[in-house]
Amino acid sequence: MVSAFTYRGSAAHIVFGAGKKAETGSWIEKLGCTKALLLSTPHQEADAESLSGQLGGLSVGVFSKAAMHTPVDITEEAMEVVKTTGADCVVALGGGSTTGLGKAIAYRSGLPQVVIPTTYAGSEVTSILGQTEGGRKTTIRGDNILPEVVIYDPDLTLGLPLGMSITSGLNAMAHAAEALYAQDRNPVSSLMALEGLAAFKRSLPALVVDPSDATARADALYGAWLCGTVLGAVGMALHHKICHTLGGSFDTPHAQTHAIMLPHTVGFNTAAVPGELKPIADLFGTTPGTGLFDFSKDIGAPQALKDLGLTEADLDRATEIAIENPYWNPRPIDRVSIRKLLQNAWEGTRPAL
Ligand code: NAD
Repeated sequence: MVSAFTYRGSAAHIVFGAGKKAETGSWIEKLGCTKALLLSTPHQEADAESLSGQLGGLSVGVFSKAAMHTPVDITEEAMEVVKTTGADCVVALGGGSTTGLGKAIAYRSGLPQVVIPTTYAGSEVTSILGQTEGGRKTTIRGDNILPEVVIYDPDLTLGLPLGMSITSGLNAMAHAAEALYAQDRNPVSSLMALEGLAAFKRSLPALVVDPSDATARADALYGAWLCGTVLGAVGMALHHKICHTLGGSFDTPHAQTHAIMLPHTVGFNTAAVPGELKPIADLFGTTPGTGLFDFSKDIGAPQALKDLGLTEADLDRATEIAIENPYWNPRPIDRVSIRKLLQNAWEGTRPAL
């Protein structure tokens, strides 16, 4: 029987396909814009300059200082460039950090955004902006944060290093796993979550064999769109709370932290919602947490929090922060069970379920 649900579709235009970056100019024009400011990290500046050259008179230049966790001082510097150039839209070319800068500019200025993702982070399809100031990360949601146009061009991911492809893919899978048991899930979010998980289950092992496999790259980016969309559509639970705690308070790297925690949090929640997580069990042919653990081990993902520089002594404080203001979770949480979960993830132990 179908349970009661509420569904809201996204207003964003999604453009998918190899070579679609070439349509950036026409999408700027469809937005009614003529002066695009291109955004990138320092690492991807040359790619942004090249796109700026291709856009010709539609580009007012490149701002290449995007950084992890969207520092407010960098956004303010970019806002000055928006003013001096008279930019009427932004084009973000890169991963979640560059997308974050575009969202932060849109939030302050109302400028429309075109995002061209080059990782599997999924931020481009959410109306969530996380930004940092004075060492504190705050999260804002708003309709003017959601990018208007997303161009998924798998060609741009051919050079994404294998290690980053794996952890970024597992980061995306974590959004889909938690979407399966979200309180506010709906039939569309569950379908997208499952399709996203299946796309990464196919593509990540193929990328290990050949990182330039165009079919696998397209599959993985398709998975990123699906998993990002469910992240933006429904609420996340214990897994995301723990990863935010570890990233925010112990500065562990974003995608790797998600990759390591995923089998443990899913295994923990399997005890409470085995029916909701059955699609993951079916996908891997075993229990959900062990299936994800064996999968990530086989593709060479990091397995233990101790390898990210976290010390065993940090685990008590991480437990306290993780159980403070908890997100809703299908299985009730308490200090003892979360401390044990973190110990297992720190050691890299295979989950029981
Ligand atoms: P990133 O954007 O920080 O990229 C990491 C590095 O890889 C950068 O130097 C980047 O230039 C480089 N890079 C990106 N694509 C590349 C490619 N194809 N080839 C070579 N190098 C490439 O990493 P990320 O994991 O995509 O994003 C992480 C950030 O996104 C975090 O700040 C996280 O909080 C945020 N995020 C936000 C949301 C949201 O909904 N608000 C969702 C997911 C992630």
